[in-house]
Amino acid sequence: MTDYQKLRDLMVETQLVPRGIRDKAVLDAMRNVPRHYFVDSALQYSAYDDMALPIGEGQTISQPYMVAIMTELLALTGRERVLEIGTGSGYQAAILGMLSREVFTIERIATLTEKAMQRFRELSYLNIYARTGDGTLGWPEKAPFDRIIITAASPKIPDPLKEQLSDNGIIVVPVGSRYSQQLLRITKTRSGYEEEYHTPCVFVPLIGEHGWKE
Ligand code: SAM
Repeated sequence: MTDYQKLRDLMVETQLVPRGIRDKAVLDAMRNVPRHYFVDSALQYSAYDDMALPIGEGQTISQPYMVAIMTELLALTGRERVLEIGTGSGYQAAILGMLSREVFTIERIATLTEKAMQRFRELSYLNIYARTGDGTLGWPEKAPFDRIIITAASPKIPDPLKEQLSDNGIIVVPVGSRYSQQLLRITKTRSGYEEEYHTPCVFVPLIGEHGWKE
């Protein structure tokens, strides 16, 4: 039988710690959440490899390092309400759920939302709420959010998401062209938004009213 806990520990020690992920709570969450549960059974052996993997519908579950660095940049304390755009497999939402109060996650492809919701139920992740829709419009009924994470490539930060961010809130998003981006973190302050650019990355496109056209 495959020792998935061992593979998870190895993933943390060889992919995350050497690349500078330091937040112990993030590392613990990555040791804890069964990533192999978020991919199809044929790919379970590769679930802890250093890469993104296909999840159907032309979409991907992000590379473990990308999940870790985006989560670390959100600087979660356990008290936040978090909005994620791009549920995909549900893995990133599961990590966020371990580190925050509530997670609201939106996916535009209904079959992916349904699969992710089934995983949350089966794993008893009870603080994650998912729905299908255009995440570039946010989730106004549940706003404001302390943190927002977009896990798809965005031409810019959608205005509705900025409007749904709390004071002192943080947004982490890959911004750039359709084919290559850089992680951007913005923090909402009294005097405006502070911007910091981080690692280069490649995500599937954010498609919607305030994203790319289909
Ligand atoms: N966070 C995911 C995970 O842990 O598996 C990986 C996300 S995948 C890289 C990007 C996802 O964003 C895809 O599932 C895609 O369908 C979704 N997406 C793209 N545009 C969207 C939009 N406007 N609203 C919601 N989801 C969107």
